[in-house]
Amino acid sequence: MSKYDSENIFAKILRNEVPSIRLYEDEETLSFMDIMPRSDGHCLVIPKTPCRNLLDARPEQLESAILTVQKLSRAVMRAFDATGVTVQQFNEAAGGQEVFHLHFHILPRYEGIGLRPPGNMVEKDFLHVQAEKIRAALE
Ligand code: 5GP
Repeated sequence: MSKYDSENIFAKILRNEVPSIRLYEDEETLSFMDIMPRSDGHCLVIPKTPCRNLLDARPEQLESAILTVQKLSRAVMRAFDATGVTVQQFNEAAGGQEVFHLHFHILPRYEGIGLRPPGNMVEKDFLHVQAEKIRAALE
């Protein structure tokens, strides 16, 4: 497995070198909107410390990340009246990973409605409105 590259886009988001629409953060984790949402409210959770993915993560990184995943999953369900939530996490290129800093996707879901195709950018204003709803739904 390759080494962690501190120039990946999420490392830059953590250092505020690249803008992001932040939803929640604590000492160990950060959550922000995905810029190519596959459902309304699609957001990401990352550890603040470096690791590529599940394969090299330390137990403390996984523990804090999954607790934030739970918090955001509950919030997006409340914010969007969703009846389910999908959590996705990809490892290495062959596993579908494109950004090599551990992250969990949180996707609000509804009975019988599929995800939108990947790779489609949306207006920033639209993401800001959704982010406000999620922040308001956080405990
Ligand atoms: P994965 O590595 O799990 O396949 O996907 C990476 C995810 O990061 C994609 O859903 C993509 O839309 C998202 N993404 C890529 N670049 C950026 C960015 O600059 N900002 C944000 N907020 N999300 C990004």
